[in-house]
Amino acid sequence: MSEPVRVPVLIAGGGVTGLSAAVFLAHFGVPSLLAERRPAPLAEPRARSLNPPTVELYRAVGLERAIRAVRSPVADHTVVAHAGSVAGPERVRLPDRSTAGGPGQWAPIDQDQLEPVLRDHAGGADVRYGTEVVEVEQVADGVLATLRSVGGDVRVRAGHLVVADGARSALRDLLGIGHSGPGTIARKLNVHFEADLAGPLRGRRVVALTVANPAVRGFLTSVDGARRWRFAISLEPGQVAADFPRERCAELVRAAIGADGVSIAVERVADTTWDIAGRVADRMRVDRVLVAGDAAHTMPPVGSFGVATGVQDAFNLAWKLGLVHRGVAGEELMATYEAERLPVAWATTKLCVERYRVLNGGPGDAAGNGARRGRLMFECAYPDGAFVPDPDHPRSTRVAQASTGDLLGDWALLTGAFARGWEDAAARAVVPVTCRPAPGPLVAEGVPADGAVLLRPDGFAAWWGTDPGSLHAALDRVLCRGVDAPAATVEDVVGAPAG
Ligand SMILES: Cc1cc2nc3c(=O)[nH]c(=O)nc-3n(C[C@H](O)[C@H](O)[C@H](O)COP(=O)(O)OP(=O)(O)OC[C@H]3O[C@@H](n4cnc5c(N)ncnc54)[C@H](O)[C@@H]3O)c2cc1C
Repeated sequence: MSEPVRVPVLIAGGGVTGLSAAVFLAHFGVPSLLAERRPAPLAEPRARSLNPPTVELYRAVGLERAIRAVRSPVADHTVVAHAGSVAGPERVRLPDRSTAGGPGQWAPIDQDQLEPVLRDHAGGADVRYGTEVVEVEQVADGVLATLRSVGGDVRVRAGHLVVADGARSALRDLLGIGHSGPGTIARKLNVHFEADLAGPLRGRRVVALTVANPAVRGFLTSVDGARRWRFAISLEPGQVAADFPRERCAELVRAAIGADGVSIAVERVADTTWDIAGRVADRMRVDRVLVAGDAAHTMPPVGSFGVATGVQDAFNLAWKLGLVHRGVAGEELMATYEAERLPVAWATTKLCVERYRVLNGGPGDAAGNGARRGRLMFECAYPDGAFVPDPDHPRSTRVAQASTGDLLGDWALLTGAFARGWEDAAARAVVPVTCRPAPGPLVAEGVPADGAVLLRPDGFAAWWGTDPGSLHAALDRVLCRGVDAPAATVEDVVGAPAG
């Protein structure tokens, strides 16, 4: 067989996580090859909006404008509710997501609108649709993989592999990475249909309506904000897609609507089911393999966390790989990817499982769950990872918010009012560091008047200090410099540039 193609990072899976990883890696100067099994980007809306912290990460790489230029057809819809039927009274109405609060604004974009935007902004990434990663082997300092497409098999040798192949991740299993959690909670089958539901909706502009009555359970989502709908039928244990021919699906859709005289036309019935599940991978990093997105954490689609958590994984691994592949940071820095993201995966999955159960009539504390949701979204903290803890700051928190959002994507040193000597220390740091006075709200949060806080490219605090002379040692510690042998550089993996 011919020599393998060499690339610094191979990404398996081109959903929102894999594509975001390609975009972020390009921003941090790391070429990647992305293999996506599907022939083209996603063809149905799943997530309908991005939460503010997720928008901030895309803003950091110059993508916010392109994302805001696209608008979900349900951008102006506000109703997310539970009812016996579409025509019947509502049992629960969720708060309008646009009032969820926090810095910045939500971006109303459907997942199938987002993927092409990401593909078109993936810099020099080699994005290959219709290409499946079928074999992976860990070798010294990297991975060896086989990619299959209609053109035949290609072997790829990469310094790192990002496994982003979704909730049913076969690669996670292939690599022997187990998972824990409640597993499958409900099984769904999607029916796409067209109907004028103006009568039963009584003027309500629906994003999603969960329906439960003696004849059918499932949830209805508007596809185009007008006449096209998707109804996800809840299957009973043991039922499979083949049990639901088109006519039966039409009957179940009518039962869900619960009104006479509505004419419906079934466009298509999916040939496979999908699961509402709570599942967390036991590892998110094994040597040179990093697991991200739904492959690492599958959670019920409540609370807009599925996409957000995958995008945050992607940003976390990308800025770190950028430094490792430039030889600035030690390979051990990648261990902090798992140390930081695995607890978040657990917390988020648990929260969404609880929320799904409460919303579907199970026991639980709906108000407490809602408050924790807000904290997890806006006040995420890492108890362990790439930062220097001290007694006052045992955890790393996300410091950059709307006021400092323009600093995301770079290292930054925010200084107190009486701090001196930091510009000089920043200028001699091993990474480029922007030095500027801390804005008022952060001073109030505790930036020492005679000191500074060092922010990582993802806006988390890496170190709090009062002595500029200690900055370089702190950075060495954060970046695991000197912990192990020098990391492979881009040139080591792909060869020196021609000429
Ligand atoms: C009906 C529905 C509604 C949802 N609603 C929301 C919502 O409102 N908000 C929200 O945040 N999230 C929602 N989610 C969840 C969200 O869609 C997922 O969290 C998100 O898609 C995860 O992205 P991912 O890239 O990690 O995985 P995926 O989107 O599943 O992408 C994985 C990709 O890997 C590819 N692949 C698999 N194996 C291989 C291989 N061996 N080689 C190459 N490619 C491979 C697949 O073809 C796929 O494209 C919803 C999900 C569903 C199903």
